[in-house]
Amino acid sequence: MTTTARKRLLLVGGGHAHVEVLRAFGQRPLPGLEIVLVEPQARMIYSGMLPGWIAGHYRRTEIEIDLIGLARYAGARWIRAAAAGLDADAARLTLDGGRTLAYDRLSLNSGAPPRPPAAAPHAIAVKPTGPLLAAVDALAHETRAAPVAIVGGGAGGVELALALAHRCRNRPAPPRLALFTRSPALLTDHPQPVRRYLIRALAAAGVAVHTGQTVVDTPPGALVTADGRRIAAERVIWAAGAEAPAWLAGSGLRRDDDGFVQVAATLRSSSHETVFAGGDLASTPAGAPRAGVTAVRQGRVLAANLRRSVQGRRLRRFDPPRHALALISTGDRRAVASRGLPIAPAGYWLWRIKDRIDRRFVARYNGLVESRGGPE
Ligand SMILES: Cc1cc2nc3c(=O)[nH]c(=O)nc-3n(C[C@H](O)[C@H](O)[C@H](O)COP(=O)(O)OP(=O)(O)OC[C@H]3O[C@@H](n4cnc5c(N)ncnc54)[C@H](O)[C@@H]3O)c2cc1C
Repeated sequence: MTTTARKRLLLVGGGHAHVEVLRAFGQRPLPGLEIVLVEPQARMIYSGMLPGWIAGHYRRTEIEIDLIGLARYAGARWIRAAAAGLDADAARLTLDGGRTLAYDRLSLNSGAPPRPPAAAPHAIAVKPTGPLLAAVDALAHETRAAPVAIVGGGAGGVELALALAHRCRNRPAPPRLALFTRSPALLTDHPQPVRRYLIRALAAAGVAVHTGQTVVDTPPGALVTADGRRIAAERVIWAAGAEAPAWLAGSGLRRDDDGFVQVAATLRSSSHETVFAGGDLASTPAGAPRAGVTAVRQGRVLAANLRRSVQGRRLRRFDPPRHALALISTGDRRAVASRGLPIAPAGYWLWRIKDRIDRRFVARYNGLVESRGGPE
């Protein structure tokens, strides 16, 4: 084991990549390295199981990873705060309370939540997940057939609409669900047979689909599209696109045209040698898709490279697979497989496989926490 002069590694966000970083340092600590996790939430919701929770197939505890316990497993200090500013030249991070922290290495994995155009009470972004989970609970118990819009025509928006339809299917007056996307078609990243399968599933679940509709405003009780139409929507759930975090604007880090942190194939910032990034907020040279599965894969390389960077060793590359397998759930304990091929295998058996993979993922981290006696 290499010994290191005392250095501080700051992890910002307990996202899908950083859980693996914490696991790796817990399994093989690096003497002399102080690890600090800056994260406002005690638990991370695993994105792969979120639609399953919405559909009513999982309890909340089954889809959460205990970040405090995992930080303790890694020997890391948890600071319950959000990063609010960064000076990458001075290697200082500012927290939302105004406190600043110096670092030797910084790793960013705080996501890039979509942002509705107006912060209206009925417009809810899918992240942070707290307001979304509360809205889904409220919808499941409502008695009126209220209009509910979901904005976002990617796999996340489609899964969410199908899961919500399933959750509310036995209500005497289920919500009237409508899915909006500005693209001319749904799921443009997926092969035609997969798209056809999911469009049929949406129709069967009673979800109205509006393609080519850009939602530009969400005034109370409605949404407004770019062509000036005002459509009734008592709740608007915003699952469209990822927005680069505004707090990185003055950081000095090199960012792409949309504001995402530019990294090399090693996940190291292309402008600052001490900074690394993974997950939705990183912009990789290979253009890896923004998905939980990408962040999870990056976690292993990020963990190795943070260690190697501290030790002054050569860094490894993150090469995303050309066609990653996506198992997209349809709410009714079925799933369809999408892997860039002109086929769409689907059914209950694929949901069973997805369920097994997802449960194993959560257990991989929570199991470590339990093995060390659980949270304080
Ligand atoms: C409904 C839905 C279903 C989806 N299903 C899938 C799926 O099945 N498979 C898939 O691959 N992808 C899926 N996705 C996409 C997936 O959720 C994201 O790509 C993934 O969560 C990105 O992970 P991340 O690690 O970058 O960030 P996140 O998972 O968003 O984690 C970020 C963490 O950082 C913390 N944080 C935020 N801001 C700060 C700050 N300023 N300072 C400190 N900490 C901060 C947050 O509290 C959070 O814990 C889905 C998305 C949605 C909306």
